[in-house]
Amino acid sequence: MPLVSMRQLLDEAAKGAYGVGAFNVNNMEQIQAIMEAARETKSPAIVQASRGARSYSQDRFLYHLMLAATELYPEIPTVLHLDHGNSVETCKSAIAMGFTSVMMDGSLMPDGKTPSTFEYNVKATREVVETAHSKGITVEGEIGCLGGIEDGHGAGLDGLSHLTDPEQAVEFVRETGVDALAIAIGTSHGAYKFTSKPTGETLKMDRLLEIHRRLPNTHLVMHGSSSVPKDLQDIINQYGGKLKPTWGVPIEEIQLGIKNGVRKINVDTDNRLAITGAIRKVFWEKPEEFDPRSYLKPARDAMKKVVAQRMTQFGQAGHAGDYAPISLEAMAKRYQQHLTA
Ligand SMILES: [Zn+2]
Repeated sequence: MPLVSMRQLLDEAAKGAYGVGAFNVNNMEQIQAIMEAARETKSPAIVQASRGARSYSQDRFLYHLMLAATELYPEIPTVLHLDHGNSVETCKSAIAMGFTSVMMDGSLMPDGKTPSTFEYNVKATREVVETAHSKGITVEGEIGCLGGIEDGHGAGLDGLSHLTDPEQAVEFVRETGVDALAIAIGTSHGAYKFTSKPTGETLKMDRLLEIHRRLPNTHLVMHGSSSVPKDLQDIINQYGGKLKPTWGVPIEEIQLGIKNGVRKINVDTDNRLAITGAIRKVFWEKPEEFDPRSYLKPARDAMKKVVAQRMTQFGQAGHAGDYAPISLEAMAKRYQQHLTA
C-alpha cells in the first residue's frame, strides 16, 4: 500500500483506545528497524524525519527508502511524517516531496529557538492546514513549548517554563483545524529529561488530563517521550561511554496518557541509545573488526528490539490489519466536506 495519512492511523488508534509510536529516522538501518518491528508485532507505523534528518540524509534518499518500505512491507499502514517543521515553507516542501503528514511547530519562531506569540502560531499553522488538507495530508500543531533542544530545534528551556494552557489549546484547535496537537507537560527533547524519576511536580500528567477533558476529540501528541531505560544507558557506559545518570518518561505515565487522549508518542533518544550501545559493544569486544556491517547489523537489531517493545507497550501491536487505507484524495474530500458542512 502507498504511504497513508496520519489522521487515519490516529483515528483508528482512538477507536481502538491505543497509542502509536512515532520513531525518528536518518538512514536506511533505522527505517528497516522500524519496519521489521512493525511486521513482527503487526503494528501500524509512523516514521518521522526532522529538519536535521532531512538535511543529513538529503531527504530525497529518505523518501525513496520509505517507498521501498511500502513495497517490502505492504501489510503495514505506514506514515511519513515531518517532525518539527519550523516554517510554512518547510512544511510545504515536505508535502511537495510526498510526506503524508507534517508538524507545523509554530510554538517557536522560524529560527527554531525563540518562543512565538499565540497569534503567530495560529496564523502559520492555519496556513499549513489549508495547504495540507487540500491534499489529504495530516497536520500536527504544537501549543506550549517543549524543553530541551533536538537537532538544533528547541528553546533550550526547562520543561516546565512554557506548559500548555488548556484554554489556549481549545482556542488553538478551533482556530487552526489541526488533526493532532503536541502539548507541553514537562517533557524535554534529548537524553537529559529529568534529574530523578519524574513526579507530579516535574511531569504534569494532571495538565494532560485537563486538556483531554476540554478537547476529548483531539488526538494528543507526547513529544520527548523516550523512557531512557537504565539498561540502555548501562550498555553505553559499560563499553567506554560517558552518559550522566538521567531519567525519561516512565512507560506507565505514557500508558496513562494513552487512556486520556494521547494517540502519538514520539520516541527518538531510546533508539539512539540502543544503536550507540550496540556499536560500542562491538568496537570494545572486537577491535579487529572493520566491516561496517559487523556493527550496523547489531545496531539495527538493537533498535528493532526497542521499537517492538514500545509498539507492544503503546498497544498498537496487532492492529496493522484492522483497516484498509483511505487514499489521500479521499482524505482531501473528507476535509472539504467537513469544512463546508
Ligand atoms: Zn519533539
